[in-house]
Amino acid sequence: MEHTEVLVAGGGAAGMMAALAASKNEANVLIIERMNQLGKKILATGNGKCNYTNYYQSKECYRGDKPSFAHKALQKFGHKETINLFKSYGILPFDNNGYVYPITQQASSVRDILNMQLESSGIDIHTNEKITGVHLHINKKTGKRDSFIVSTDKSRYLAKKLIITTGGKASPFHGSDGFGYKIAIDFGHSLITPLPALTFCIVDEKYTKDWAGARTWGSIKAYSEDGNLMCKDFGGLQFVAQGISGIPVFQVSRYISKELSKGKKPYLIADIMPLYSEEELVYELLYRKEKYASYSIGDIFKGMLNNKLTAALLKKCSISIKRPAKELMDDNIKKLAYVMKNWHMDVKATGDFDKAQVTCGGINTSEINVETMESKICKGLYFAGEILDIDGICGGYNLQWAWTSGYIAGSAAGKAITQN
Ligand SMILES: Cc1cc2nc3c(=O)[nH]c(=O)nc-3n(C[C@H](O)[C@H](O)[C@H](O)COP(=O)(O)OP(=O)(O)OC[C@H]3O[C@@H](n4cnc5c(N)ncnc54)[C@H](O)[C@@H]3O)c2cc1C
Repeated sequence: MEHTEVLVAGGGAAGMMAALAASKNEANVLIIERMNQLGKKILATGNGKCNYTNYYQSKECYRGDKPSFAHKALQKFGHKETINLFKSYGILPFDNNGYVYPITQQASSVRDILNMQLESSGIDIHTNEKITGVHLHINKKTGKRDSFIVSTDKSRYLAKKLIITTGGKASPFHGSDGFGYKIAIDFGHSLITPLPALTFCIVDEKYTKDWAGARTWGSIKAYSEDGNLMCKDFGGLQFVAQGISGIPVFQVSRYISKELSKGKKPYLIADIMPLYSEEELVYELLYRKEKYASYSIGDIFKGMLNNKLTAALLKKCSISIKRPAKELMDDNIKKLAYVMKNWHMDVKATGDFDKAQVTCGGINTSEINVETMESKICKGLYFAGEILDIDGICGGYNLQWAWTSGYIAGSAAGKAITQN
């Protein structure tokens, strides 16, 4: 059995940062990753550009049953510390309205430099090796548990400190299949149900095929079954054959996932003409009906609404797109204006974990010491990254959470080794 002081289970963003922080504290570190390379998910982030943090930070950017857990951790190691540490590694930042990317606009820069740092720090890296189980090791002399036995599909390891950074369940083709939850549960931890977040919504309406491919600027509000506003956002909406997507939909999707998981029927309300009031839209349609009386109802929306959205809107309102504009009655005009401002959609599902950028839910943070990321249940066991019940909004906050929690866990595990 091989021995190590700190074993990092999972070589994603949190694991790479945890390994570097532990090694900086002079501990011997081994990182075990099931994929053929470290940080595969980092390569996919920010559309291949890696939005690794954000200058704008507030409590609302991090979610979970106890979002204050993230806030406290960020006070210890936040975006400024991340940017400075990355600069010291050689990753020069590029600020795009607060969204921070590497100046190269290549996610591979971040992953490769972290890899080079790991290698030059002398950290042992095992890839293509899957962790299959973890047990406590009992010291025969003292009768006390003093380390962890980590089994993989290739070997067994004795580790004094164990940091679990195996991620959540989102995007499993990058390696994260939720295995870490099993380890946590085996050690007595409880889980807030992991659900897909930062994903699109599947809408239970007949017209979605008509709007597929359309995009517009607009707002989206997510409501619970009993009509409580859970979350709202504004920005570029994207309409797809199964439903609705785009950053604003991603931002509200965790609340929809949670509501659906309780067997409830959440719904969305979109405003697809945010620059105009309902009254202005009524006036505009009346004017167009007069001006283009000899054209079809569909035609009077030209220059005002994307053709695909026009088709979906008219289908939703049960108005024939081909009928002459002069047949459009006043009450139909009022209805169309109302729907453009208050487009109701019943949501039957969100995109699944394959389509989600992150997991909401995870290990209950009330069982974790925020100062160290150490388990309050099992000494010497640490968790970091998406496996914990913290999820960020879009904009670099999920990677920031991985750096923050990974840094704190690695530093604490490393210090615990060197101070003993
Ligand atoms: C398409 C996409 C785009 C994104 N864009 C952004 C963005 O621009 N900005 C942002 O902030 N966030 C973004 N995110 C979210 C962000 O990438 C994640 O929240 C973050 O990478 C999580 O880091 P992690 O280390 O906790 O988990 P992961 O990155 O999932 O890493 C976990 C690692 O553990 C390994 N592992 C799992 N089980 C085992 C096992 N049994 N044995 C050994 N190894 C194991 C996995 O292979 C994986 O490498 C994006 C996510 C996706 C999917």
